[in-house]
Amino acid sequence: MIKVLVSDSIHPNFINALDEIGIHVDYKPNIKKEQLFETIQDYEGLVVRSRTKVTRELIEKGSKLKVIGRAGVGLDNIDVDFANEREVMVVNTPEAPSTSVAELVIGLMISTARHIPSADSSMKEGKWVKSKLTGFELKDKKLGIVGLGRVGSIVAQIASAIGMSILFFDPYVSDVYAKTLGVKRVDLNTLLKSSDVVTLHVPLTSETYHMIGRSELDIMKKSAILINTSRGAVIDEKALTDALISGKISGAGLDVYSSEPPKDLSLINLQNVVCTPHIGSETFETKKRIATLLSKKIIKVLNK
Ligand code: NAD
Repeated sequence: MIKVLVSDSIHPNFINALDEIGIHVDYKPNIKKEQLFETIQDYEGLVVRSRTKVTRELIEKGSKLKVIGRAGVGLDNIDVDFANEREVMVVNTPEAPSTSVAELVIGLMISTARHIPSADSSMKEGKWVKSKLTGFELKDKKLGIVGLGRVGSIVAQIASAIGMSILFFDPYVSDVYAKTLGVKRVDLNTLLKSSDVVTLHVPLTSETYHMIGRSELDIMKKSAILINTSRGAVIDEKALTDALISGKISGAGLDVYSSEPPKDLSLINLQNVVCTPHIGSETFETKKRIATLLSKKIIKVLNK
């Protein structure tokens, strides 16, 4: 019998899907490292989230392993190179959270433009503040999307429905694809200069590290807001803190930080910053989708 070990938590749909086709699943979301090392040789498949570290040593011990599944996006906790060397397939589900992240982006845009968190906390303090909380509408404003991949494309669709016009910067997508979304390609400088809202949806690479720094913030509109749900280090956070204090831009909505949780609170404590603790994927739908997509990918490898 083919056996799969799940060593972190996962939605029950994953276990049911494998069970239905006769693959045995041991669900041990709290398994200790020593136990994992003792039992890994019994399994063809291992499924983890971010807690379990799938090191070279663990893969070496798992002599029967054919597949390692990561429930979620990042693969930082898996030695992918060594897994490849041992012909152990590594699969993940980067497509699962796109809608949830895109909807959070819209939430952050509206929250920042309309000061919803400040309004909420002032009321809870017994105050009735109105004109200080004057915001702006999104309709007829320009949205600049940096990175028109899975999340960026869904943001484009929702924002179009709100009545925003969309500019994007992404050298790696085709004009044919952009045309299907009705978005306009521009260079990064034009996007930053002309957008009322800028939203970042690029992966963190050597090319995108601190992609938004002092000189990029300098050319944005004073009234503009910046949204980041991609990776914290895409922004130079010190430069963003200074730009928000000096009024170079008017606000920021952030879900991701260069260090998580952030050690330095000077950025997130600013009144014109709306922040969430990396909850882009934290929805019931994403959890279910991860289970369904991952079960299909694992079954495909194990049934070969
Ligand atoms: P994706 O791979 O589908 O899209 C990324 C896009 O960025 C691609 O179209 C690519 O061409 C483009 N790109 C790459 N380098 C670029 C550059 N230098 N300049 C401009 N464009 C560039 O990724 P996705 O699934 O849309 O995810 C986008 C980001 O969101 C990633 O950083 C991902 O880690 C992050 N994310 C965050 C959460 C969260 O919980 N906040 C959840 C999922 C994903």
